[in-house]
Amino acid sequence: MSAATSDKRIAVLGAGISGLTCALRLAEKGHAVTLIEGSDQLGGLGTFFEHEGRTLEKFYHCLLPSDGPLLALLDSLGLREHVYWKPSSFAYAEGVSIFPLNTPIDLLKFAPLNFIDRIRVGITGAYGRIASAKGLDDITTAQWLSKWSGRGAFAKFWKPMLEAKFGDRYEDVPALWFWTRFNREKGESKGEVKGYVRGGYKHITDTFAAKLKQLGVTLRLNARIESVDLDEAGVPIIKTEGGAESYDQLVVTLPWPVFAKTAGARLKAASPATDWNIDFQGVINHLLFLKRPLTKHYWLATPGMEYPFDGIVETSTLTDEADRGNRHVVYLTKYLHRDDPRFAQPEAEIQSTWFTALQKLFPDLKPEDIETQFIFRAPFVEPVYTRGFMQRRPPEVMVPGRIFLATTTQVYPVVTSWNGSVIQATRTLESLV
Ligand SMILES: Cc1cc2nc3c(=O)[nH]c(=O)nc-3n(C[C@H](O)[C@H](O)[C@H](O)COP(=O)(O)OP(=O)(O)OC[C@H]3O[C@@H](n4cnc5c(N)ncnc54)[C@H](O)[C@@H]3O)c2cc1C
Repeated sequence: MSAATSDKRIAVLGAGISGLTCALRLAEKGHAVTLIEGSDQLGGLGTFFEHEGRTLEKFYHCLLPSDGPLLALLDSLGLREHVYWKPSSFAYAEGVSIFPLNTPIDLLKFAPLNFIDRIRVGITGAYGRIASAKGLDDITTAQWLSKWSGRGAFAKFWKPMLEAKFGDRYEDVPALWFWTRFNREKGESKGEVKGYVRGGYKHITDTFAAKLKQLGVTLRLNARIESVDLDEAGVPIIKTEGGAESYDQLVVTLPWPVFAKTAGARLKAASPATDWNIDFQGVINHLLFLKRPLTKHYWLATPGMEYPFDGIVETSTLTDEADRGNRHVVYLTKYLHRDDPRFAQPEAEIQSTWFTALQKLFPDLKPEDIETQFIFRAPFVEPVYTRGFMQRRPPEVMVPGRIFLATTTQVYPVVTSWNGSVIQATRTLESLV
């Protein structure tokens, strides 16, 4: 264990990928770091569960070749050689028909749209790759897509997918959100591939934990932050069940609504321009271990009203048998707000209604094909973006010299992802003096 060489005591709040990255880099610089996590696991939204000796993600996760900063981090942890890549494909369900949508030919054959609209969607994609991002934060995705694809294609194709992600709040989502997302997903010229790390994401967090220990970081799990404030002298003070603690500096990586709830009066007064009302979208994942595959596609979008989920993510198309056992792993995913009554729906109800809907698309799928199933929910996944979000985005430095932020809320316009959080953590640490 190496001892701190700086006398600065820094607490990092939250041990998702952002908190892990911040703690690692600060400890490497010789600071005395305490990493404080409310749950019993590292990894935040990339966290895992155990089944028959293997660990899998509670929420589907994969890497993209364009995830440069994350891949560089994995390299520095000695994990890069454990990342493997497989071809990945996307399809779209219209009613009970499945349409692959990966190539220009697929688009030309895409029967849910009339021929002119197919061409216009193709032009939108081609233009999206070369268009400048300038000004896109100030117009909505709906405006931008309607302009380039036409109203018909927008209503039939794009709108259901936007609604699937943001519900009725899709209308104000800036075009910059769509543009960065589109270019991240389509950023690969050699045909789409996606990556996974041998041993799952737990392999990454276990490696972090060992490295942090080696660097002398104090790692505290099950230590939920109840409040974050400043004392009379302006020194950061946090409270957990164990009582109050003060630190020279804090790096906050908590989900924004959690931080907004825990932030005390002095802190709020010291950062009057901060927008505490940024709301978040949540998610439910219904994970099925199946004895048979469903499709060859990694992602099958199901934006139609007949499906209670937005997409079917068959992660076993990307992962080796060694990482999942001799089974097919399918996540049914639904983004929704934590206040939506469906977010609190009992597990048994979700399992039965979602499976019945899945059978509409796959009539030969039988209950006996299920080996086992799980439901996972996360209330805070990503901000509900609004036009001009760059202006709402919280700054890296909240209280100069004292409180710094590396939260999911700031990742925009980069896509919220492990890569996005690593980029944000790096940007925040650059401002930390
Ligand atoms: C369904 C789904 C699929 C996804 N797919 C991908 C993918 O394929 N690839 C990809 O790169 N990304 C994916 N993501 C996004 C990715 O998981 C997130 O962007 C990333 O994990 C955010 O990391 P973070 O550290 O910024 O925040 P978080 O992971 O949210 O970490 C915040 C941490 O704070 C902790 N915390 C919360 N409250 C408290 C408290 N009061 N006290 C102390 N600690 C607290 C939490 O437990 C958590 O550990 C996906 C996310 C979801 C939900």
